[in-house]
Amino acid sequence: MGMADIHIHTIYSHDATTSVRGILKQASSVGFNVIAITDHDDIRGAFDPRELASQYRLEVIPGEEVTTKDGHLLALFVEDIPQRGLPLDETLKIIGGMGGIAVAPHPFNQLPGSLSMDQVIHILTKRALKNVLRGIEVYNMTTQPFDERVQRLSAYLPFSKTAGSDAHVYWAIGTGKTEFRGKTAKEFRSALEQGITIPHPYEEQDLMRKYIFNWLRRITMRRLGYVSHASATEDVVSTQRMDLRFTKNQRAKLKKKNLHNE
Ligand SMILES: [Zn+2]
Ligand SMILES: [Zn+2]
Repeated sequence: MGMADIHIHTIYSHDATTSVRGILKQASSVGFNVIAITDHDDIRGAFDPRELASQYRLEVIPGEEVTTKDGHLLALFVEDIPQRGLPLDETLKIIGGMGGIAVAPHPFNQLPGSLSMDQVIHILTKRALKNVLRGIEVYNMTTQPFDERVQRLSAYLPFSKTAGSDAHVYWAIGTGKTEFRGKTAKEFRSALEQGITIPHPYEEQDLMRKYIFNWLRRITMRRLGYVSHASATEDVVSTQRMDLRFTKNQRAKLKKKNLHNE
């Protein structure tokens, strides 16, 4: 059996603090076989590691966390970014058109960015789209107080169940583990499509970590330019200051500018 975490953010997400190499190093230390890099509306971090990943004995699924009009959606096995802000069904259609599949992250709560149960059930009425939406994340460290509710509500839904760290800091990698038959990204996909992935609950000590490093502390560190990184020569993840201008999302900036001009 293999272990995957398909919900991880790199510094290409405005609110995350780990470089791609930092993530690979940590994921390999934890013992994952497969991870997905899923930045907010950005796919650059998912392409960097293709060659690097084998050095860390990992396979990386290219993905992203798309902001749809209805809530967040993890797009996996995609080569491009669906436009943000489209309705859920349109976004799924684009992901399916690219040969990808999707998972609903941290769903069924009142938080902004979470898909509702009605939206997810609506997808079941669309023959083409239910083959694209394949999973529901039933453990997510960042929305942990809602997880029991998600597990109950999704018990009878015909989707694979996953656990995601939603890691925005490197040591959160390992708090979301999804077990699957096989070791490769292809086998992970097959398990997800068959609905047979096994989500692992996080452990007691993981819950403590969340409170030690809350959102405000993380954002402060990020604004100061601190990044957790593993260099090619050193075998540890260390935190250092980096120029993060290259991570700015050009497309988002451009859109903002156009809006101002209108
Ligand atoms: Zn999210
Ligand atoms: Zn996320």
